[in-house]
Amino acid sequence: MKKRERLKIYTIKDPIYNQSFLLCIGKKEDFDNRIERLYGVERDTRKLDGARFTLFNEQQDKSVQYVWVKSFDWSIQDQALLAHELLHQAMRALNDCGVQIKNGIEETNEEFVYYFEYLFKQVWQKLKP
Ligand SMILES: [Zn+2]
Repeated sequence: MKKRERLKIYTIKDPIYNQSFLLCIGKKEDFDNRIERLYGVERDTRKLDGARFTLFNEQQDKSVQYVWVKSFDWSIQDQALLAHELLHQAMRALNDCGVQIKNGIEETNEEFVYYFEYLFKQVWQKLKP
């Protein structure tokens, strides 16, 4: 019998930059299995707790953005990890749209910070008990 996938998957929509992504929560083994099955990508052997990356779906002819964390139970640690990966997603999404993330503490980067805030709200809204 086929093992049931215990991965939780949420679609986080971004109607502004059109950079929606899939948020996956679950054990790395389950996540790696899904990625291997859908994309033929070999399992990532690194010991990670979370990651953000882009895969190309040939059937749909489009890139798919992924944010994965191994667990989310509202602990400070889990929230910090998810926020960390969301920051990566925000940077990548804006970068893909040609929005430059500026260096230096005197620059405000408000577009980036607002975008991160937006993603944060979308995700926390979906996850709230
Ligand atoms: Zn990182």
